[in-house]
Amino acid sequence: MKGGIYVYTRPDPNEKYWDPEIETMARDKMRELQLSELKEMLQFCYDNSPYYKSAFDEAGVKPDKLKSLEDIKHFPFTNKKIERDRQEAVPDLGDMICVPESEIVYISASSGSTGVPTVSPFTAQDFDEFQDYQARLFWSIGMRPNDRYVHALNFTLFVGGPDVIGAMRTGAMGIWAGTVPTERLLFILQNFKATITWTTPSYAWYLAESAKKEGIDPAKDLNVRKLIVAGEPGGSIPATKMALEELWNAKVYDFYGLSDLFGANAGMCEEQNGLHMYEDHHLIEVLDPDTLEPVGEGERGELVLTTLRKKARPMIRFRTGDIVTVTWEPCACGRTAPRIMGIHGRLDDMLIITGVNVFPSDIEYVVRKDERLTGEYRMIVYRDENHLDRFEVEVEAVDPELVGSQELAEDIRAKIKVRVGVSPRKVHVKADGDLPRATHKAKRVIDKREGVWQE
Ligand SMILES: [Zn+2]
Repeated sequence: MKGGIYVYTRPDPNEKYWDPEIETMARDKMRELQLSELKEMLQFCYDNSPYYKSAFDEAGVKPDKLKSLEDIKHFPFTNKKIERDRQEAVPDLGDMICVPESEIVYISASSGSTGVPTVSPFTAQDFDEFQDYQARLFWSIGMRPNDRYVHALNFTLFVGGPDVIGAMRTGAMGIWAGTVPTERLLFILQNFKATITWTTPSYAWYLAESAKKEGIDPAKDLNVRKLIVAGEPGGSIPATKMALEELWNAKVYDFYGLSDLFGANAGMCEEQNGLHMYEDHHLIEVLDPDTLEPVGEGERGELVLTTLRKKARPMIRFRTGDIVTVTWEPCACGRTAPRIMGIHGRLDDMLIITGVNVFPSDIEYVVRKDERLTGEYRMIVYRDENHLDRFEVEVEAVDPELVGSQELAEDIRAKIKVRVGVSPRKVHVKADGDLPRATHKAKRVIDKREGVWQE
């Protein structure tokens, strides 16, 4: 075989781990490995990327300043904005790139709402390692050669598209569906007796509702017994996860990914207790977004990642904007990789209401738990006459008789207050079907603040 991209391996289905050595490596040994990878990576960036050279010079650090993993704190951050700016300053791949273009074999591009999409380039080796990593995540949810996997993620430029190759590496049957209309997807799932599929939590919900309308009960009439969800916090919100598991009669596994780095960077194992993120590829920091100092283990903070192996465009201290909690406590599965125990939301989704941080996922936590509600919800944020930010919440009652119920509204309002520390001004109890259904990513926040105040 020539070249660096291959698809198949023939793993032993009885092997518990995809990569036993890495997945169960003792922490001190892993840190040693990380330190040698990181030293090499910083030098590689400094020698090959004009951007990193000037950024390090400006910060007054040389790669050899790093003697321990903690020394990463001396190096400058990157973020989405820098990524985009560098791409615009040095068209068309930017100067964070560390290899000649001839070595790049694949680019994905994220659909920014404005301007040029940001690209993520891979060398042949990066791509192989990327798919090996995806296979590791798929294997850890129990994907095996006798599985049939329907890949229903977008293939157009989206870095999640090629993940179907990672699934095929486990020996499973890869069915390349892509984003087809809902009825078509249901047909594919049913016709090919798919055992595993992957979508957003909102779409999984919508898909099940649509199936039922067509007389298909996903729990009985489909063979999907494992459902991967990503793109929204739902898969890590217990009530949402449980509701989806019941709708589908399937286990739900939350995955988390960043298109700037990889497809999926972390995923639940069969224990379904947090998302493993593997440290041979990532140096993980969890920082207070204001002070940029590390928070204690298990405390909420912004996830900051350094790629340790990616050569085409390494990311040093990439501020993800995602607020997470991470633990290094051992997992019952025997893997030593740390786990993201909660993805609470994105910094840019975070609302500050009377000094309290509020994430839409906190509202979801309450709404999805209450059996009187359909689980659909929407937040409306506005500024009141005193220029204070306020919010209202819209929910849907299952029972038509509860529509408009003040008692139910007050009860939900109180529960939200307990969860987030601040109560919505009003809760509106609407009828089943009043709120728009999301097909892919749900729009849960209506922000009416723009134009009220010029900032
Ligand atoms: Zn585990």
